[in-house]
Amino acid sequence: MRLTKSRRLILELLWKSGRPTGAYELVKSMQHTGIESVGPPTVYRALEFLMKQGLVSKIESRNAYIPCTHPERNHICLFFLCGSCGNSVEFEDQRLERLIAENAAQLKFKAARRVVEVEGICERCLTASGA
Ligand SMILES: [Zn+2]
Ligand SMILES: [Zn+2]
Repeated sequence: MRLTKSRRLILELLWKSGRPTGAYELVKSMQHTGIESVGPPTVYRALEFLMKQGLVSKIESRNAYIPCTHPERNHICLFFLCGSCGNSVEFEDQRLERLIAENAAQLKFKAARRVVEVEGICERCLTASGA
């Protein structure tokens, strides 16, 4: 698959960020690179494309985007989101995948976006707070 320069740059910025990043922040970072001056529509279009390709997931609860750690296959993205440092970890679990597939089949529901968001506190933040 070929990526245009701005799409590739957005994907790189998301990887570098390591946490869910909002579109506005991406626009800012793009402008900082000085490579291209881009506006929000370009960024939204690129994100839309990257999501369709399964390279990026949207974290609805934060209105932010995160690169997918295993885009090579169609899967459910399970994200653990730390409310303290803002980091997120993606987890892959076949059981969850099967469960949702089975339930969807029972309902004769054609599932599209399958992103599970779990909010909480990460191990590092827990340790740091001494809890
Ligand atoms: Zn994923
Ligand atoms: Zn944390």
